[in-house]
Amino acid sequence: MPCFNDKKRIVVKIGSSSLAYPETGSLNIRKSRALVEVLADLKNSGKEIVFVTSGAQAVGAAKGGFLKKPQDTPSKQACAAIGQSELMKFYSESFEQYNHKVAQLLLTRDVISNETRRTNVINTFNKLFELGVVPIINANDVVSIKQLDFDENDTLSAIVATLCNADFLIMMTDVDGLYDGDPSLPESKLIPEVERITPEIISLAQGSGGALGSGGMLTKIEAAQIATEAGIDTVIVGNRDPKILYKLFESDCAKCTYFKKREH
Ligand code: GLU
Repeated sequence: MPCFNDKKRIVVKIGSSSLAYPETGSLNIRKSRALVEVLADLKNSGKEIVFVTSGAQAVGAAKGGFLKKPQDTPSKQACAAIGQSELMKFYSESFEQYNHKVAQLLLTRDVISNETRRTNVINTFNKLFELGVVPIINANDVVSIKQLDFDENDTLSAIVATLCNADFLIMMTDVDGLYDGDPSLPESKLIPEVERITPEIISLAQGSGGALGSGGMLTKIEAAQIATEAGIDTVIVGNRDPKILYKLFESDCAKCTYFKKREH
């Protein structure tokens, strides 16, 4: 496992289960603040941070009075609308404490296929980097149609990494990386490094996401495939302590799974 200190433009993706309480869906303020502090500090160290955050639906459901995350599309979209402003208020205020400005980008899948929209997004990213602002990304759930669009944010984070020309993608989740078996069983071992994403690797990524989020290990592997094919080194890392991000940049012993970029 290398030390990733040479990485400069970094996309960090966090899922709903990493920033909301599973019991209530409300924002886990302590965890989210701790993550913002690390991201702000990494930015201070000279890195460019792009932050892909889920959680709008989970946080919006809690705020909107739903007892659990709803399943029908209009309610999900309403929750996303309620939660997104709540999330941005929190991120804006939290980054501001460290004197960093943030910007919100809500994307739909046509940023891949539609040349004009793609160019618009790339131009926006470039200007935000020039201005030193932290782009904060989520899917635009209000206008997106399920199954045709970003249903989870793992794929979105890989697309974002390619659009903003990142050299590193970090997906944070509730396990430490990809395991060779069920991560809850003591005999299962973490796979530290994946040279190539083979059908065997994909078959290890079974199971789905938790109650709050939509992704799972499989969507993360698919995202890793998009990013590594595009020449972007990728890691999946645990979300328990955001200081693990320091370890990735300062040592070669962070507990995670590293997916090596493809050299073309
Ligand atoms: N855009 C969704 C949200 O913010 C992402 C859902 C997910 O990936 O869990 O809630």
